[in-house]
Amino acid sequence: PRVDNPYLNARGYVNPEWKAKAESVPGGNRISNTSTAVWIDRIAAIEGTDNSQSNGPMGVRDHLDEALRQGVDYIQFVIYNLPGRDCAALASNGELKADELPKYKAQYIDPIKAIQGDAKYRNLRIINIIEIDSLPNLVTNTSGNPGGTAMCDTVKANGAYVNGVGYALAQLGSIPNVYNYIDAAHHGWIGWDSNFTPTANILRDASRASGASAANVHGFIVNTANYSALKEPYVKITDSVNGQTVRQSKWIDWNQYNDELTFAQAFRNELVRVGFDANIGMLIDTSRNGWGGAARPTGPGPSTSVDAYVNGGRVDRRIHAGNWCNQAGAGLGERPTAAPEPGIDAYVWVKPPGESDGSSREIPNTDGKGFDRMCDPTYTGNARNGNSMSGALGDAPISGAWFPAQFTQLMQNAYPPL
Ligand code: BGC
Repeated sequence: PRVDNPYLNARGYVNPEWKAKAESVPGGNRISNTSTAVWIDRIAAIEGTDNSQSNGPMGVRDHLDEALRQGVDYIQFVIYNLPGRDCAALASNGELKADELPKYKAQYIDPIKAIQGDAKYRNLRIINIIEIDSLPNLVTNTSGNPGGTAMCDTVKANGAYVNGVGYALAQLGSIPNVYNYIDAAHHGWIGWDSNFTPTANILRDASRASGASAANVHGFIVNTANYSALKEPYVKITDSVNGQTVRQSKWIDWNQYNDELTFAQAFRNELVRVGFDANIGMLIDTSRNGWGGAARPTGPGPSTSVDAYVNGGRVDRRIHAGNWCNQAGAGLGERPTAAPEPGIDAYVWVKPPGESDGSSREIPNTDGKGFDRMCDPTYTGNARNGNSMSGALGDAPISGAWFPAQFTQLMQNAYPPL
């Protein structure tokens, strides 16, 4: 029988591969015993790889055995290999073509199920984070949207994402000690009215596809691998300046939310409204949304204009909330914490800090990773980030590969500080 909140009074698995990378950087031992998620980002990662820049030799069974050895209560995996993956970007394109749903089922989900379902792991809480950055693309990055892509049209039309997520939920969710959390983007992506309910509806459709039901969904995660601030202490969405709402500032741009906590709580209510169980819980990835350090504002901005007020007071220092790659100035966020706020099962570190989001220039690789200019510090942007500079750090390796300079900066700008 599942517990309501698998994180409560529970100790999480420390991934030895990430721990070793963290300890290779001066000061990394301050956080190297933190629980981070294990990404199963290709078929080969199920058994472990030795020829990849972003995976280590440990496979799913190795991690589960090590979790038993550590005597921990839970372990977190990221299920991340949909056909036509990352349809609106290039940095994390995967190995499966848009029409390879049968291969996703037979060669990816089924073998993971066989391992996770082994009775020897029955006392571990196995938490699966399901397919980040996938379903919301079907709402916001298809034709008719600014920046829509042909690949997002394709995977919407052929059902690869909806049916793939449904299959993952149904199969893995049939294991009694598995807890599935589906990715639900972040406030800077679906916080607008035009995206909010349509995304909740697509998540509901996926939860009913391929034999799945709402009972296979324990909750949702927001901000996975992203940088959106948990709280904005000096810019409330209800604030106004000289009679003008802050929502009309360039930064907020009419979004209904300005932080992940209020967004996650509101989206939870919306998900229940469209048909999910009333006891679902939310996770917030706080691995890189701390925004501390010297540039962090200590009070509200000046009341001379909405833009001056918002830009002076916001702790999220990005150039644009649509920027997602290796953000300069970012810091570690809240350390993993169970039940921190109503409706929130936990703050978690799903993106392992120090692993790159994508290379800042083209780097040949055998991992199937493309080059996305959102990771190039000289790029001037596209319709999905308001044609803004990318804000990315230079000299970055391909997505998933270790990026020590970024890890150092994340520690320097941690908030709460280390
Ligand atoms: C990459 C994966 C990697 C993950 C965690 C993703 O962006 O595509 O290969 O495992 O990040 O760092």
